[in-house]
Amino acid sequence: MEVSGEAVKKSRSRANLPDYGYPVEDRAVLVDKATTVNERLTLKYGPARWSSKDPMSMLVDIILSHRTRDAQTAAAYAALKARYATWEDLRDAPTADVEATIAGVTWPEQKAPRLQAIMRKITADQGNLNLDFLKEWPVEQGVEYLSRFEGVGPKTRACVLLFSCRKPILPVDTHVHRVSIRLGLLGPKVSAEAAHDLLQALLPDAAQAIYNFHRGLLRHGQQVCVYERPRCQQCILRDLCDYYQKKVLPQATPARG
Ligand code: SF4
Repeated sequence: MEVSGEAVKKSRSRANLPDYGYPVEDRAVLVDKATTVNERLTLKYGPARWSSKDPMSMLVDIILSHRTRDAQTAAAYAALKARYATWEDLRDAPTADVEATIAGVTWPEQKAPRLQAIMRKITADQGNLNLDFLKEWPVEQGVEYLSRFEGVGPKTRACVLLFSCRKPILPVDTHVHRVSIRLGLLGPKVSAEAAHDLLQALLPDAAQAIYNFHRGLLRHGQQVCVYERPRCQQCILRDLCDYYQKKVLPQATPARG
């Protein structure tokens, strides 16, 4: 499912819940759970800090990061900055040169031509290679603009618009997706793409709160609610968590009789 600005708006304004992947009787229950999760994780990990990257630089960074560990992404980004004085230089460089510079990320052979194609299209559209105008545009318009680029999906669009433009839109990465399902904010079969609108509809329309939620679930997914064997005994969300209540607690409590 593609996240459009219109979809974000509709999702927020619906009186009844959209399909969360399982029967939910009361929207307020989910909103309360998301609010409490956000409060606790923000206390634990601290409020998210805004990036100093401009939107064009953030787009480069996020494209590099697809299916790539943070350290390799940071190394490739630093290598690009060292190799090319400006993004225009990267845009106009031989593609093989760009590919070699980002060789440490996953799929450099796709990412190098993709970055250059996007940069050429932005230049053709705008007359220069700069996405700062997205800061001034409404979030729905920014989503629509970024949707025109191949390889720029819901997560990438939301990352650029939230992290660099401070727009109220939620990126859902693998950690946010997994932890949300375990908590019961989403049904087990809801895709990460569909989760963008569904989770955002549970949050306030405020960029800092949305960023805190994203960053809190990301950190929690990396440190506590890890992919294999979540560390539930260390978790501050046990009383809220469907996975813990249904799968972990019954095994820890001896059956009576
Ligand atoms: S209780 Fe366990 S499964 Fe639930 S959020 Fe915490 S670590 Fe994840």
